[in-house]
Amino acid sequence: MATIGFIGIGNMGTGMARNLVGSGHDVTVFDLDTEKAKGIEGATVAASGEEAAKNRDIIITMLPAGPVVAKVYRETIRPNAAPDTLFVDCSTIDVETARVLAEEAHGDGFAMLDAPVSGGVAGAEAGTLAFMVGGSAAGFAKAESILYVMGAKVVHCGEAGAGQGIKICNNMMLAIQMISVAEGFALAEKLNLDPQKLFDVSSAASGQCWSLTTYSPMPGIGPKTSADNGYKPGFAAALMHKDLSLAMEAADASGADVAFGRAAFDAYDRMVEAGEAGVDFSGIIRGKRGVQ
Ligand code: NAD
Repeated sequence: MATIGFIGIGNMGTGMARNLVGSGHDVTVFDLDTEKAKGIEGATVAASGEEAAKNRDIIITMLPAGPVVAKVYRETIRPNAAPDTLFVDCSTIDVETARVLAEEAHGDGFAMLDAPVSGGVAGAEAGTLAFMVGGSAAGFAKAESILYVMGAKVVHCGEAGAGQGIKICNNMMLAIQMISVAEGFALAEKLNLDPQKLFDVSSAASGQCWSLTTYSPMPGIGPKTSADNGYKPGFAAALMHKDLSLAMEAADASGADVAFGRAAFDAYDRMVEAGEAGVDFSGIIRGKRGVQ
């Protein structure tokens, strides 16, 4: 069993840390919000990030964004971690920061993986996340079995930054699909069609996708989702906006044609500007339906 330091016990980190504890690992958790850290039964709550980083086989981070991740690795983790500690950042951040942090860690003799996830809070709780991993083969070999405790699919995507690259492509696809499902339901409503009939057909036809069958934005349709809970996240619009801005940065830098991705970015930009950053990203349907 591994000794694991887990920093960032938010919507995602909570389920992930619980699953590590459940599989018998020795887990020490830290979050700026102590109440969240205390919510992981069976884990040791560290008084500081420094304490969580000391004497661990693996340190896992699940933090909001690149600047926070960079600060925590530079100021808290690297100065305190024991030699041979493996760093695994599961946050979604930009490819460049992921590469730079891995290089800096390597300079200090540490291996570091970027290992962002897909699957949402439900996947974090159920231990069925998909992990997209960038970094060395040796680091991946060390982390793989631990990642499988939290996930159902773990893919080594390439060198440092490759996990983040695949993640932003995936989430751009997700945003476009969520908007397509929202518009399908909004159009069906305008045509006085039964949304359940649209679900029954499309979930078994060519409109099928995760945003429809697993994460339907229409309340009362499909499995219980954030839509049935007042669009409480889940996956906040602010985080989707962040992922799309990372995708747009990467598209601009590489010259990729992402017209629909850009339209999705603009749509989430408007949602955030309208004060709905904390609403689940599936709540984008409310504007389309003209409801609150
Ligand atoms: P969250 O805001 O719920 O959790 C982040 C946690 O980090 C918070 O509890 C916060 O208190 C803590 N934190 C912030 N700065 C800290 C610091 N310096 N030291 C210690 N703790 C600190 O966010 P989340 O929804 O859990 O998402 C985390 C990451 O996972 C993000 O990068 C997000 O893009 C990604 N992600 C989220 C989902 C989702 O469905 N929520 C899905 C896939 C990926």
